[in-house]
Amino acid sequence: MDVKIQLKEADIPKQWYNLAADLPNPLQPPLGPDGKPITPEMLAPVFPMNIIEQEVSTQRWIDIPEEILDILYQWRPAPLRRAMRLEKYLKTPAKIFYKDESVSPPGSHKPNTAVAQVYYNKVFGIEKITTETGAGQWGSALAYACSQFGIECKVYMVRISFDQKPFRKLMMQVWDAKCVASPSEDTEFGRKILKEMPDTPGSLGIAISEAVEDAVKDETGKTRYSLGSVLNHVMLHQTIMGLEAKKQLKMVGIDKPDIVIGCAGGGSNFAGLAFPFAADKINGADIEIIPVEPTACPTMTRGEFAYDYGDTACMTPLMAMHTLGHAFVPAPIHAGGLRYHGMAPLVCQGIVEGLFKPRSLHQLKCYEAAILWAKTEGFICAPETSHAIATVIDEAVKAKEEGKEKVIIFSYSGHGLMDLTGYDAYLSGKLTDYELPEEDLNKSTSVLKDLPKPQIKKTGKW
Ligand SMILES: *Cc1c(COP(=O)(O)O)cnc(C)c1O
Repeated sequence: MDVKIQLKEADIPKQWYNLAADLPNPLQPPLGPDGKPITPEMLAPVFPMNIIEQEVSTQRWIDIPEEILDILYQWRPAPLRRAMRLEKYLKTPAKIFYKDESVSPPGSHKPNTAVAQVYYNKVFGIEKITTETGAGQWGSALAYACSQFGIECKVYMVRISFDQKPFRKLMMQVWDAKCVASPSEDTEFGRKILKEMPDTPGSLGIAISEAVEDAVKDETGKTRYSLGSVLNHVMLHQTIMGLEAKKQLKMVGIDKPDIVIGCAGGGSNFAGLAFPFAADKINGADIEIIPVEPTACPTMTRGEFAYDYGDTACMTPLMAMHTLGHAFVPAPIHAGGLRYHGMAPLVCQGIVEGLFKPRSLHQLKCYEAAILWAKTEGFICAPETSHAIATVIDEAVKAKEEGKEKVIIFSYSGHGLMDLTGYDAYLSGKLTDYELPEEDLNKSTSVLKDLPKPQIKKTGKW
């Protein structure tokens, strides 16, 4: 059996899949400050209208414009690989496949949506795009995409990552973007936070507030904001992963996997692989679908399903999602991409339905899995990706104990070659596990008390 399963360029999916079309209970609408559902017009200062249309669409299939495919061909279709050496090491009867998203120019799944978003902004006449970034993966992905279309790019990078991960900042500069540490002196909100907490490590919530402020305050009207995860259109753009993977599994005679796994920060990487399989699950297929997060930022496993803001300054609409509270500042764990307080509403509604069964893992176990992965498969994974790998190993060991030949597929969301400081900390014994204390959780979710409550809508089928 082949260890890499490659699609021809001609076989790249030509449409994205929209889970909103098939969810048994529809998403609950985002709410404005008055508690009423927001209108597309209210989002117009932040996003271009063509993207807002995708955000609210419930159409099942959406065409991928040729201009986007032209750039995606640079690394897509991405290989589906079989982790044969890990299987052998574990002596598991499970077949382990992984969708390799590390082969993109910035090294993760994120350009799948960055390229699409920059394209739609360009078509809409936008000249500058602002964003935030945690570990720098998203910032570098957007910087890369902007460079392909000749659009100006400004990135607010969470302070702790700005200091820990200087190389991604340099990648952004190579691709011509401007990258500043957040909180920054460049926005009113950043200056306010710096005054109150000069030593704050920053957070994605703060950085989002800064990037949105930067976009909406541009009086020329030619600046918009871009978000790398969480929103419906981002999930949509990422489904190319799962759609390719389905075709690739078919090429080796596999109709469906038994288990689908992805790590989840804002949810887009997980969604990208999982949503096309979730469609099959909704239609009766027996598939276990598992999003994985760190115990230090346990949004899906311990957060409340509530209406909450996407950012710390409460500038975004209220979204119905699992959340730790918008003021949550996570412990400085090394998986910078998994430190967001909220989660994609589409993923969360899937969790409420029981379609997805989230788990959380400690970082030491994840690094241990990453090292085993590097010693067997050879590749050095991103710290985020290690959460998926550790879960895969758990499931492969379980398959061995049960004597079952399960098919496991996961998203290899990125390589770790820019994250070696995390490996350094692990190898020199400086990393510790961190579990969010109940007391801190109660405190951080207490901001949700006075916000509207979403309904818990589930069919009870899963
Ligand atoms: C950003 C990132 C994630 C988390 O992404 P979401 O799509 O927000 O869940 C996972 N893995 C890697 C390598 C990343 O860069």
